[in-house]
Amino acid sequence: MKQHIEAKFDELKASGKMPSPKGVALAILRLAKKSDVTIDEFANVVKTDPSLSGNIIKAANSERSFYSRPIASVQVAVQRLGMATVKSLALGFSLIDSYRKGGCRGFDYSHYWAEQLLRAIAIREIAIRTRVAPSEDLFSVALLGEIGRLALATIYPEEYARTLDESHHTAMSLAELETKTFYIDHDELTRYILRDWGLPDILVETQLTGISSRDKPDSRQFQLGMSYEVARDIARLGMAKASDKSVQLDLDSKLAAVGMSDVGKEDLVENILAEWQEWSHSFGLDSIKVSFEHISNTEQDELAVPVTEVDGTAVDLTGEQVLNVLIVDDDADTREYMKLCLGASHFRLYTAENGEDALSKLVDIDPDIIISDWMMPELDGLGLCRVVRQSSEYGGAYFILMTADDTHDKLIDAFNSGVDDYIAKPFSRELLLARLRPGVRITQMSKQNQAGKYRIEKLANELAIVNRKLSLSSLTDPLTKLPNRRYALKRLEQEWATSQRGQRDLSCMMIDIDYFKVVNDTYGHAGGDLVLKGLAKILKGLLRNNDVACRMGGEEFMVICPDTNMENAVKVAERICEAIERTVFPYGDKAIHITLSIGVSIRENGHSHLDEMISNADKRLYEAKAAGRNLVM
Ligand code: GH3
Ligand code: MG
Ligand code: MG
Repeated sequence: MKQHIEAKFDELKASGKMPSPKGVALAILRLAKKSDVTIDEFANVVKTDPSLSGNIIKAANSERSFYSRPIASVQVAVQRLGMATVKSLALGFSLIDSYRKGGCRGFDYSHYWAEQLLRAIAIREIAIRTRVAPSEDLFSVALLGEIGRLALATIYPEEYARTLDESHHTAMSLAELETKTFYIDHDELTRYILRDWGLPDILVETQLTGISSRDKPDSRQFQLGMSYEVARDIARLGMAKASDKSVQLDLDSKLAAVGMSDVGKEDLVENILAEWQEWSHSFGLDSIKVSFEHISNTEQDELAVPVTEVDGTAVDLTGEQVLNVLIVDDDADTREYMKLCLGASHFRLYTAENGEDALSKLVDIDPDIIISDWMMPELDGLGLCRVVRQSSEYGGAYFILMTADDTHDKLIDAFNSGVDDYIAKPFSRELLLARLRPGVRITQMSKQNQAGKYRIEKLANELAIVNRKLSLSSLTDPLTKLPNRRYALKRLEQEWATSQRGQRDLSCMMIDIDYFKVVNDTYGHAGGDLVLKGLAKILKGLLRNNDVACRMGGEEFMVICPDTNMENAVKVAERICEAIERTVFPYGDKAIHITLSIGVSIRENGHSHLDEMISNADKRLYEAKAAGRNLVM
């Protein structure tokens, strides 16, 4: 099998169509193969490409400790990063540059790079904080971590387009389809390509294989694998469509597993976003918006109701039932590993240390699925299974046995004792989840049959909710749930760059409630808050999809309107003013009325910076106030 794949790889390489670095990056790659090359020689080649030089210096500075002086020369940057790292970075940058477009219909090149870049930045930001591995090396490996997909699209544009299309319509995985058609799947291909380019083997391997139950949670291997997972999740989250509710990730516990504190998390996400904006801008990818918005825009009140009742059965937000899973193992590391593996929304996880311990907890847990180790002190896995099967209450639980000994006779023993399935140790998370699938299906079927028998528990989806909140609470205003000032300025920066490059319109408006102090004085702070919340909701309703309303602070809001000229922006502003003037905010048995003043401004070609646009809007707002309020200027 291995040989066969190797032969296939050689064949592809010989075809000359494989994605490959061009120009300076190619020269660097060649140079790096020589044994006697000096840093100066190396740096001199880097210097012939100004944008590469800039990126290398930037990379060196991001690895630099907080207290050292900023690096400004390519020489020092190369020295600091090492030639191998510079080589990998040059490789990645050159590939983005050359393969931003291509001929494979159905393969979205920009989306591909945007996602790879986001993942690379995410893992780098994690590594800078946890020091799990050199951050710039991780950056390169993650950036090229799915290069096999790009390679297949590049070598076989037509066939691969068909394969991608087919993958949406069959139960076969993309990898299976690839193997069927090309005799190699994209992960295998990635492995060979990255090896061929000399990227660090362990980093490549861990990215491809992920974590396994063999790895102790405090081992470097595990930390590294988990870091890749977090980065992949963050990239998925960032690239998901706003409407995609299925993206529920377990970032919280994964981040905890790589040793990131609560405080660290917000800062992490912020930095990733900022870095992504910067890098994607320099690669011209910023027409794609990383939108963590589906998180901040999701009505959080809606999320605060984790479990709804359907025929008396607890279901989570994805419409699936929440299952109780009991993990029984005498090894604490395995229990931890399993928890991480199964930290998805539709399992409620419990653990026990051995068969006896599990039995004593059955009443409280009422498990739907039991995953148990075989060899344990006191009562072993088979003993536990036999007792469970005799119980009328819990006898129906789906029982999976974990065993290191999966020889024929042992397995027959196991099935005779009543286990439903077994899984051989060590195992990957993918395999565990695959093995669980029949259990989930069977349990859900039997639950539907006995709806009503089960308690409704609030806890059910808490994990998913926490994750969504972790999300980007730091970019969301807690009172109105609108994006906050920090987000507004970042977003405006992004829109500014897009509109400047494409010579497109961009406008923004500053909105301030008139005499808001009076509202507070008359109705109290709670009345004021209610008005702010109501106003936010009305604003959202009045705006088009592309417009973004943000709370800048106090009773001041900003609306960003891409592709909108002055005339239209004023129209929108007037519509808002009129709607609010007519609105009654009921507060107890009273009714609160407010009016707004709005200042509108647009990006003008004479503006060198977006601050000018913002301060123009501010100026106009004050003119509106001075002219009597309830006005648009
Ligand atoms: P003007 O028409 O000139 O804008 O008058 P104003 O009273 O609206 O302006 P000013 O800026 O003097 O007062 C704003 C008030 O908004 C003062 C502050 O107490 C109140 N405020 C700021 N943030 C909040 C909030 O989160 N909740 C409530 N209820 N009030 C807030
Ligand atoms: Mg005001
Ligand atoms: Mg004010």
